[in-house]
Amino acid sequence: MPYTWDDKYIESKADKGTDILGFGEIGGVGQLVYHTFRFKAYDFDIDKDGRYYAKGICKPGCEPEFAADGELTGKDILTGLCNLAKKIDDFSEEKPFTELIMEWCGTYAHPYSVDFIYAGLKDKQFDIQTDGFLIEKDSIFYIDDFMKDLERLYNAARFYIALEGVCVADEDAAYDMYAEGRHFEALPVFERFKHDKPPVPDSVLAPAQGDLLKEMRLASEYEKAHPEIYDAEPDGLFAVEPYDHYEELRDRLVECIPDFRMRLKLNPRTNRLVFSADVNSVFDIAWYTLARLLSEDPAPEDKGKKEKPEEGIMICCRHCGDFLVRRSNRQEYCDKPECQKARNAKNQRDFRRRKREEKAQKEHKKEG
Ligand SMILES: [Zn+2]
Repeated sequence: MPYTWDDKYIESKADKGTDILGFGEIGGVGQLVYHTFRFKAYDFDIDKDGRYYAKGICKPGCEPEFAADGELTGKDILTGLCNLAKKIDDFSEEKPFTELIMEWCGTYAHPYSVDFIYAGLKDKQFDIQTDGFLIEKDSIFYIDDFMKDLERLYNAARFYIALEGVCVADEDAAYDMYAEGRHFEALPVFERFKHDKPPVPDSVLAPAQGDLLKEMRLASEYEKAHPEIYDAEPDGLFAVEPYDHYEELRDRLVECIPDFRMRLKLNPRTNRLVFSADVNSVFDIAWYTLARLLSEDPAPEDKGKKEKPEEGIMICCRHCGDFLVRRSNRQEYCDKPECQKARNAKNQRDFRRRKREEKAQKEHKKEG
């Protein structure tokens, strides 16, 4: 990887014998050049077709702000959007999702037409007094578009985390993935592993004489007649190991990630052209970051081993469930004080348990 996540150049360790050109082999492609800015406030309204939209306010006294260098990384945007989605989907959340979205945009970045508006704001001719209303017009985005984009990203991120867990025998995230949320429709990819239904006996299907439709009807009738086998409630554990279907699941996850258009972009920091993914929205930045996490993932058989890459994978905090990109392969909690407290309490519990076990073992030996 010739560039690290914070754009520092390191010597390429390219494997010249490979047919697949990864970021490392080409050099420089791993970078992502994007600009972020935020409006201090938004107007929220409804158009003549009944669609809700938000409009950034760009007036003297309410000038948009630019993020400082390195203030907002792709990982911040990815985890920030996932945490927003988690909040929106939470039944106990009291704020309406429109308000949560506006808050997010005001804290992180304006979500759409990012490059276009940025160029307008940075134009030497730009005068907020006379041109501000043009920026405001360009900043309009529809809430339902945002919700659709957010749902897609959230689902892929949850799928990614569930699949990472499956590799290290931590299946809770996969098992709970399809649980009902408040606004978003989750992916049911792990549902079929909850049941280990025996196939319908051949003798039942025989009368169909190979007619597929008839066979399906006969099978469905048979299943209905035997609810004790086919309708049994899952017991909280997978009946079939999802890991045994890892390749197929990984293919499904890859299908969730959109394609990127690459083009030459100017990196204002270095004043050099970079071959970079074309990003127009914060979702593009988040998808690109997620794709890069996936492309740096070790092979499934190497997961959980010590020699992990420096950059962490994305996980959910064990205490609050928030999304974070971990800094080391042992991090399981986010930095919030209450989560660090929970981590310490758990470490203490583990310590006491180990001590008790050691003591019991010693006493056992004495007796023997
Ligand atoms: Zn936490």
